[in-house]
Amino acid sequence: TENKMELSFLGISENEGFARVCAGAFAAQVNPTMEEIADIKTAVSEAVTNVIVHAYPGEVGKVVLRGALQEDQLVIEVEDYGCGIPDLESALQPFYTTVAGEERSGMGFTVMQTFMDQMFVSSVVGQGTKVTMVK
Ligand code: ATP
Ligand code: MG
Repeated sequence: TENKMELSFLGISENEGFARVCAGAFAAQVNPTMEEIADIKTAVSEAVTNVIVHAYPGEVGKVVLRGALQEDQLVIEVEDYGCGIPDLESALQPFYTTVAGEERSGMGFTVMQTFMDQMFVSSVVGQGTKVTMVK
């Protein structure tokens, strides 16, 4: 199977569930297990939540979700055009968060790494962030 999709939507919390369902439905074409679908949904949810929470401080911005299927491999991208991540190396560490308080645990990137086979992040301050995940 070879297939591609691209969706763009506003980075608001209402769209977190939308992105999860879309990613799961797209991934379903390669007959994954229920567990694999759940893992993909969880990882996409973390990436999209990061855009909603961090990428556009004080404003609402765009999220792009892309999926590509080739053979039995799924590549997912979540991209924003927001503030970028100044210290990416730290951001990828478990328990690292720039948000004070108890709401965020700093585990989003760690969850994405754990639930997918591979994860890469590219980010430019002032231009945005792209998370690429493979399963
Ligand atoms: P949690 O995901 O556990 O709720 P968190 O979002 O702070 O907490 P991570 O998802 O691991 O933790 O992200 C680590 C840090 O990377 C964030 O605190 C934030 O500073 C930065 N970050 C992550 N994604 C983005 C993004 N799309 N744009 C800007 N900064 C981001
Ligand atoms: Mg997060």
